[in-house]
Amino acid sequence: MSVARGWQFFMHPGPTNIPLRVLHAMARPAVDFTGPEFVALRDRSLERLKGILKTRQGFVVAYAASGHGAWDASIANLFSPGDKVLVCMAGYFSENWATTARQYGLEVEVVQAPERRAVNPEAVAERLAADVQGKIKAVMIVQNETATGMRHPVAEVRAAMNRVRHPALYLVDTISSLASYDFRMDEWGVDLVIGGSQKGLMLPPGMSFTAINARAWEAAQKARNPRRYWDWRTMVEDGRQVRFCGTAPIAFFYGLEASLDMIEEEGLENVFARHRRLAQATRACVKAWGAVSPHGGGPEIYSLDAEAASDSLTAVLCPPGHDADRVRAVASERYGVGLGRGLGALQGRVFRIGHMGDLNEPMLLGALGAIELALAEAGMPHARGGVAAAMDALRAPAAPRMAAVAA
Ligand code: PLP
Repeated sequence: MSVARGWQFFMHPGPTNIPLRVLHAMARPAVDFTGPEFVALRDRSLERLKGILKTRQGFVVAYAASGHGAWDASIANLFSPGDKVLVCMAGYFSENWATTARQYGLEVEVVQAPERRAVNPEAVAERLAADVQGKIKAVMIVQNETATGMRHPVAEVRAAMNRVRHPALYLVDTISSLASYDFRMDEWGVDLVIGGSQKGLMLPPGMSFTAINARAWEAAQKARNPRRYWDWRTMVEDGRQVRFCGTAPIAFFYGLEASLDMIEEEGLENVFARHRRLAQATRACVKAWGAVSPHGGGPEIYSLDAEAASDSLTAVLCPPGHDADRVRAVASERYGVGLGRGLGALQGRVFRIGHMGDLNEPMLLGALGAIELALAEAGMPHARGGVAAAMDALRAPAAPRMAAVAA
């Protein structure tokens, strides 16, 4: 058995690196979760999460559950069997959220994103405009598809919904975008947000949450889907969460407080700028690897649309006939660099470089250097010089993202 020395570089797109400050905050004895210390911590942490979500109107309900739990909570609380929802389908995670809806007896209509491109808001508008009887109860979108490394246009889809004056609820999964790049619950008219602990929030996996506005809360009072663990009506009083179904995830709240402190100290917009810088460097690196000939031939950024490439991870599509998992295996076994695998239909074709959470330039450059070595050892066609291209990108001032349109 080989012995690993030095830091192991965990470059997965979730879970992500957990800062020591968060780990230390969580390493403490249990307290009474109905006592004043925990209740005060719970209340202020849920309130502070609203700052990350950019909402004043909504409130947050947290669960001792992974992100799948928050998916269940969204469907169980908002709908009745037979209700119809429109899912912006763009990869593994939107597919799985849609599966959750189907399991609860919902009818799922799909707007398919073009391959390797972002969801088209006009296609959503067309579907909604055709729904003259108002059967579609909600539009569902994953802001950051973690399987493809693509961001989808949350503000623009809301603008499209408004244009055709459709009253559907708007549900957004921000699990791999929250605290990595911009999200504005109120301004973008989002009725329900799905979030998770283990990505931009830098916590371990195991806590997720939903942010709910007044429209979503009202829908929950009428919904007939069965629910127990997720039932907001038993957890919420006077517009705030006052209990969990069962024992509260106490340690998570101590960790969450540390994580929110860290984000606040850095400044949320600076956190976004750091993610953007690291993402741009990664993309420059992958583009350099890909330039085997003037026509490419090496690994490619999965997103064909530069504006849709995610700032929290980069999905790297390998040339046909070459195994992405071989690169992952070499990177992990030889260099201690952990990469995300391709999910669903992308298994073996894609590896994913996570650049979200507690990460800086030398960590990224170290990982990219090791991946470049792994590409060579795995026999994957590529051009050298990826790390140099990443360094050049880091030297350049960060290009701003196009401002998202307001609803
Ligand atoms: N939604 C997105 C966008 C995700 O990336 C993930 C997990 O990676 C999930 C939902 C599911 O979350 P979990 O794995 O915590 O259940």
